[in-house]
Amino acid sequence: MAIVSDVLMNVKKRNLNEPEFLQAVQEVLESLEPVIEMHPEYKDAGILERMVEPERQVIFRVPWVDDKGIVRVNRGFRVQFNSAIGPYKGGIRFHPSVYIGIIKFLGFEQIFKNSLTGLPIGGGKGGSDFDPKGKSDGEVMRFCQSFMTELYKYVGADVDVPAGDIGVGAREVGYMYGQFKRITGSYEGVLTGKGLSFGGSLVRTEATGYGLVYFVNEMIKAKGYELKDKKVVVSGSGNVAIYAVQKLQEFNAKVIAMSDSNGYIYDEKGINIATIKKLKEVERKRISEYVKEHPHAEYHEGHRGIWNIKCDIALPSATQNEIDENSARQLALNGCFAVGEGSNMPSTPEAIKVFQTNNILFAPAKAANAGGVATSALEMSQNSMRMSWTFEEVDFKLQEIMKNIYKNCIKAANDYGFGDNLAVGANIAGFLKVADAMYKQGV
Ligand code: GLU
Repeated sequence: MAIVSDVLMNVKKRNLNEPEFLQAVQEVLESLEPVIEMHPEYKDAGILERMVEPERQVIFRVPWVDDKGIVRVNRGFRVQFNSAIGPYKGGIRFHPSVYIGIIKFLGFEQIFKNSLTGLPIGGGKGGSDFDPKGKSDGEVMRFCQSFMTELYKYVGADVDVPAGDIGVGAREVGYMYGQFKRITGSYEGVLTGKGLSFGGSLVRTEATGYGLVYFVNEMIKAKGYELKDKKVVVSGSGNVAIYAVQKLQEFNAKVIAMSDSNGYIYDEKGINIATIKKLKEVERKRISEYVKEHPHAEYHEGHRGIWNIKCDIALPSATQNEIDENSARQLALNGCFAVGEGSNMPSTPEAIKVFQTNNILFAPAKAANAGGVATSALEMSQNSMRMSWTFEEVDFKLQEIMKNIYKNCIKAANDYGFGDNLAVGANIAGFLKVADAMYKQGV
């Protein structure tokens, strides 16, 4: 359809050298063709053209002093992509690979993901090329303070509410929150993922991983499968992976492999998640250390090898484009029947094609990992109400949200003639709410 290809061409011209952003936009736009055909008013109102252009992008200098007294400079980003349905919402990523193209791809995905949660949150994302690996606690604190010293001008409980992502957890959110409060004197809920003693929500830490498993459970249940006794490979060992594994084990699934950016571990007896939590959350060590405590397990260098392991279900939960065409073929060859994306855009477009041609059930990130940001929105609600809900209350709401996302994705896919294609369904269902809001609010 001309309109979609025209918009795509313009995006390519305007955003040179940003392959991740183009990949995310292309995947979404291609699935929206039938929607635009059925809604000519969206075409006339330039909804697609407006949606692919961030409302605002801030790029700033982040100077900080390391432990040796040397001044270091990093680059900070906040992309406020779309506020049609609520304040900008999305995490902050600290990783050396961060540049504007990564933040834009993540911010773009966030628009649809946040819409799918059914809660009033717009799409945004931020980050820095700062590498927290090997930095002391004092260095991380000074970096976070400097980052917020500039960012505070652009955020606020009803404006833009950042949270964590890769490299940003409770510690970093705490330091940024402290600095925001020091500068503004305001106790508002400007960040989510806060500590429980100052406005954080129970279940927020676990939410993305738990939500992923709730979603995958719905998806496989619909085809007559259950998680019990299934062999699962979960890449990554960050916040998403850890709590996905914990929830999978509660469902009596058997998780046999996890990874970090250096390599992966294979434990045929089932991963001991307490060891992983200690290594990663407390000691901040590499995953290779796992075999010291569990000598029967194997450690292998390199992260792609994890997809050669024979499994029933794969949950990529490390980073973008971690499953390429070859890895996808290997999974298919080994009889994997379901893939659920825990990280953002972990499968390349070619990998997704392999899943589809092999009838592998596929849960796309913007639906499957939406539990994190959904629980962030629940944290915002509790902050506004000056209340805190119990673990059970929040977990129940999270389960309901994930079930609804699943239902809405299936319904959207059905309505537009895509059967039970969840990837297309997620794009369409996420799009419809934002498009309606943009349309009604005028140009
Ligand atoms: N970074 C997470 C995501 O990709 C969470 C964002 C949030 O809680 O605002 O959705």
